Amino acid sequence: MNAAALALLLLALAGALAIALALQIRQRNALRDWLIAPDLHPLPDGRGVWYEIFSRLRKTRKQEQLRRAELGNALERFRLAVQSLPEGVMLLDTQMHIEWLNDAACRQFALDAVRDPGTLAVQLIRQSEFRQLIDSYRARPVKQSTLLRAGSNGEERVLSVTLLPFAATGTLLVATDVTEQVRSELGQRDFIANVSHELRTPLTVITGFLEQFNGDDPPTGEMARRFHRLMAEQAERMNRLIADLLTLSSLESSGQPPRDEVIDVPALLETLRNEALALSAGRHAIDITDSSAGKLRGSADELRSAFGNLVFNAVRYTPAGGKITMAWRLIDGQPTFAVTDTGIGIPPEHIPRLTERFYRVDKGRSTAVGGTGLGLAIVKHVLVRHGGMLKIDSVPGKGSIFTVALPADRRA
Ligand code: ADP
Repeated sequence: MNAAALALLLLALAGALAIALALQIRQRNALRDWLIAPDLHPLPDGRGVWYEIFSRLRKTRKQEQLRRAELGNALERFRLAVQSLPEGVMLLDTQMHIEWLNDAACRQFALDAVRDPGTLAVQLIRQSEFRQLIDSYRARPVKQSTLLRAGSNGEERVLSVTLLPFAATGTLLVATDVTEQVRSELGQRDFIANVSHELRTPLTVITGFLEQFNGDDPPTGEMARRFHRLMAEQAERMNRLIADLLTLSSLESSGQPPRDEVIDVPALLETLRNEALALSAGRHAIDITDSSAGKLRGSADELRSAFGNLVFNAVRYTPAGGKITMAWRLIDGQPTFAVTDTGIGIPPEHIPRLTERFYRVDKGRSTAVGGTGLGLAIVKHVLVRHGGMLKIDSVPGKGSIFTVALPADRRA
């Protein structure tokens, strides 16, 4: 081969190489453009090995788009579901800025779903109860609730607002409109208070007449005496019931904190012991074993009623020959009142419900011993108002211990 033919061949080879290289560069550029903006630069069919690469990439992208669409659909369905909840829902970040809120929350708090995200919740919901809830939640991020009054469309509504931890660092706020429930509870409370008041007057008249027979003009004949005794007992029972109902309704409806009086608890225990001895009529040994926790701040009437109910219950539910002790001492810095009896005890399944109104383990026995079924409900309300707690330990057939722990800062 002469030199000219060789040069020609080399030239042809170089040409072919250049074409192949240009083709590779074009396909590589197409890939780069696609990676940058896949919607603007669709992948060509490609040649050789590129053909396979491009078709795989196209397939993967299609699957990816499909998955994204499905995810988007699912998210949208969730968003719509939360959006259509009757409860107000808000997502708050770690700093308690609003991240997102649904339509109900916008209505309840008069907020705007576009304008308000990014703002601190306490700047938009200005009620002091809400600020307290947020402060308390930030100190202890566990589920916590409060009642709030909020205006919507010129009408005041009552909202039960709950904060609870959500995902790793977020907080979920759920607000339920409880206006109707609160109204009906208030109505019921007013009704009970009114009925109790109304019953008082006729009962006073009946009791007055019954007492007349005790004095100058006692009933004659066995049957008349028996009827008179029964009527007097039942009138007395109704009096107690009405008194307890009025006490309970005034505790429940009082929006005020309890009176701040200094109560001489050791002296109160002496009085309660004497009253318990009178109720027991010599059937029990009743002692005060400790009075070392001293004086207390609170409402004297309310605490007298709460402690008294516990002591009188101990007398009522302890058979003759039993022993009752009262102790007033500091336990872990908290002033604590405990009444221990050797009475009939309470089966464990009843204990959680004892403070409900009219809940009795044995209705017949409660009535027989002069109970109203309201004593422990009164105790519970008094303790809630004073920040105290009631603990009940009991063994059926052996006896019970009712323990009241009050906050340390109530010591006077
Ligand atoms: P009651 O007027 O019926 O005593 P309370 O609310 O005071 O109502 O108490 C609720 C119920 O709890 C009582 O009916 C009784 O069954 C039970 N109970 C309360 N105290 C005692 C006690 N010391 N020993 C046993 N049972 C008790």
